[in-house]
Amino acid sequence: MADSKRVEPDLKFVKDLKAMGADTLKKCYQCATCSVVCPISPEERPFPRKEMIAAQWGLQDRLVGNMDVWLCHYCNDCSTYCPRGARPGDVLNAARALAVRAYAWPACLGRIVPDARYWWLLFAIPAAIFLVILGAAGHLHIPEGEIEFAKFFPTILVDSIFVPLAVLWIPITFGIGIKRFMNEIHTNAVADGRAKRKDIVLPDFLRSLVCVVPTILRHSKFEQCTQNKDRYIPHLLVLFSFLGLFIVTNVFFVALYILHSPGPYSQLNPVKILANASAVALILGAVWLINNRLKDRGENVGRGSYFDWSLLILVLGLGVTGLLSELTRLVHLPAIAYPMYFVHLVFVFCLFAYLPFGKLAHLVYRTLAMAYSHYSGREPCE
Ligand code: SF4
Ligand code: SF4
Repeated sequence: MADSKRVEPDLKFVKDLKAMGADTLKKCYQCATCSVVCPISPEERPFPRKEMIAAQWGLQDRLVGNMDVWLCHYCNDCSTYCPRGARPGDVLNAARALAVRAYAWPACLGRIVPDARYWWLLFAIPAAIFLVILGAAGHLHIPEGEIEFAKFFPTILVDSIFVPLAVLWIPITFGIGIKRFMNEIHTNAVADGRAKRKDIVLPDFLRSLVCVVPTILRHSKFEQCTQNKDRYIPHLLVLFSFLGLFIVTNVFFVALYILHSPGPYSQLNPVKILANASAVALILGAVWLINNRLKDRGENVGRGSYFDWSLLILVLGLGVTGLLSELTRLVHLPAIAYPMYFVHLVFVFCLFAYLPFGKLAHLVYRTLAMAYSHYSGREPCE
């Protein structure tokens, strides 16, 4: 007699999916139009129809830990053509949000960060920490004279907060999440017969990782979309502005601690130009993306969940407060410049501290899923 496996629908998981924006998933009647129209789904075992079955049955292990969920770029071609209005794009988006939550460590942050009820708490935590530190250091006042942010929030204090976040918190918390993620997608691939070996062969996987980097930098998957093609340029703007700001932060760190050049720097300094250009690109990209989300694309295409919007607001806030800090410093408005700098640091803290638990984590998980897809022979490199 053939082995049979009893399928136990996880109704709590279905409820969680709906709460994350997949409220239409029950409408699906398995016509497969979505898998046919998806411009980036491989021909063999295409998505998202099979994920719609898993979502309807609440098969958590078939969605969380499914690399295909991450290969989806949320272009919504499938949702546009779905005859039932089941919005498969939103269902996969919700599955990604729950995957981020499932891999999160500490688990409590995985629950709090994507929960709209706690947005104020996420901002209140760094604000309170900063106020205590500034109060203890006797810096809770607007300094006199020429505006220098280090007079208000000394660089050594800023770095004593952000360096541990960057070199300890993110690598440890994200590292645990990534390990769980890779274990799960590999285990599923072995179970499906897509991967032969029990362990991932690291050199081969790293080669696959290098192989997908150009695809990500060119955003060529986004280019294949037809419905949300207009997300291509703003998405690129945000990606490259983050890369620019990453370079700027590291150069300024080296300038301060190795070259002993504390700044402020001339506006004509090439690194400063890169910083300002990145800030402008960040704001432009965020406003463009928000505008795209607000466009009416018919009732089949949703406008995203709190999970998506929280990242857009964070990115916009980061860019706007950074640029306003700089502009108000240049025109000498200390009563605005210093508080604005404080708020900017709160946004930066939120970006660093909550990175593994929110939408921004997709940057890493999708990159790894694309690399694994190549590694397991599911997709060639472009
Ligand atoms: S999600 Fe829509 S298009 Fe896809 S199988 Fe279900 S009903 Fe068909
Ligand atoms: S949202 Fe786009 S990429 Fe994702 S399954 Fe639908 S058509 Fe494919």
